[in-house]
Amino acid sequence: MKPTEEFVEERFRRFNALCFGGLLPEVPVVLTSVKSYIGMCSYRKRRIGRGRYEYYDFKFRINTRIDLSESEWEDIILHEMIHYYIALNGLQDSSAHGPLFRKMMRFINGTYGRHITVTQRTSAGQREQLTGTKARERVVAMVSFRDGRTGLKVLPPDKRAVAAYRRGILRSPRIESVEFYLVKDAWFNRYPCSRALNVIYCDKAELLRHLSGERFE
Ligand SMILES: [Zn+2]
Repeated sequence: MKPTEEFVEERFRRFNALCFGGLLPEVPVVLTSVKSYIGMCSYRKRRIGRGRYEYYDFKFRINTRIDLSESEWEDIILHEMIHYYIALNGLQDSSAHGPLFRKMMRFINGTYGRHITVTQRTSAGQREQLTGTKARERVVAMVSFRDGRTGLKVLPPDKRAVAAYRRGILRSPRIESVEFYLVKDAWFNRYPCSRALNVIYCDKAELLRHLSGERFE
């Protein structure tokens, strides 16, 4: 499911009463569509004296780019609520998910049977939703170097682009051969797709796992 503002607000109220003694003031929920996080408790910080700070302008940012189960979303909301509680009360922790965060997380997990984690763990499929959007059709050049290394280059599925890349890359004396494959795997979205005459070194075994058998000639 993808969460709505109402869903996040409702769960916030419920968990506030259940796990935080109703002590957390309501917080604006902002639905986002980003590649970098699933949930985030954002706030601003200002100095109010010698070494003393105040945290304000809290917002819960929830990324609706990703599809999670209802209970996974609840754990994300609880995770952000712990950050909120710590910042709101000006409590010191040694890092974002330091001992204090973990203590509260373990308490809530143990008492209420939750599965909050310190990292927002995502499966490969979920990461694709976050970073890759859709798997697009691409051509991947597998470049073999004379020294035994392997490189790749992601190209648009265009015959002229591929022909120009082949001609250009084979001019380099360091290159043994190049093969082209048609792929549709979001794994390649991490590489820039262009007509530029460059190569990125990669692990051959890993590359082969993502190449379809279909050659692009
Ligand atoms: Zn966190």
